[in-house]
Amino acid sequence: MKILIVEDEIQLLKSIEEFLLTERYVVETAEDFRTASEKALIYDYDCILLDINLPDGNGIHLLEKLKKENKIANVIIISARNSLDDKIKGLDLGADDYLTKPFHLAELHARIKAVFRRKQQEGQQFTKIGNTKIDFFNRQIFIDELQLDLNRKEFDMLSLFVNNPNKLISKENVAEYVWGDNIDMVDNFDFVYSQVKNLRKKLKTAHSDMGIKNIYGIGYKLITNDHETR
Ligand code: CA
Repeated sequence: MKILIVEDEIQLLKSIEEFLLTERYVVETAEDFRTASEKALIYDYDCILLDINLPDGNGIHLLEKLKKENKIANVIIISARNSLDDKIKGLDLGADDYLTKPFHLAELHARIKAVFRRKQQEGQQFTKIGNTKIDFFNRQIFIDELQLDLNRKEFDMLSLFVNNPNKLISKENVAEYVWGDNIDMVDNFDFVYSQVKNLRKKLKTAHSDMGIKNIYGIGYKLITNDHETR
């Protein structure tokens, strides 16, 4: 799960970032409107925490931009007290939730989890593909009721594939989704190849009906038993 935090109060930004990292999210940050717009329009986030009052712009305008570009993102507005107008405008523009400063990080986490719950398969915690059940909320996967051990990155990769069942996903997409910020600085994406290979092997060894097809030179695609030619 990848989260973008947009917040110009550095202290607050750092504390949210630290907290979310310990909760095992992939976290990126933006301290101003310009950076936030760039990131939000180029990359995909599962959730954006959006401060309204930024030194170089208004967070509400970012929501407008996203809407105009048909960019789907789950947004939780975090803003100062007494900004009821912003709240109404934000929710009108499709923000998922609104949190008034100051707030407890546990409260923020509860809201984030609720957003994810709604997002994932229209509120369902589980996805089932053949004999394979994925529990996004507890980050577990079961094949014929037997739990398969995946490490954090493997589960993140799996979520990306499962949530984009008909899409061809490039190595770059995987790298950016799972490893986050600064990944564009990496010279080559060979490490993705070996990581996906491990995941594919684990699924195959456990006889999962779900698999990941390597489309040479292009990327990967989720496959299920029905479509697979063996
Ligand atoms: Ca602010």
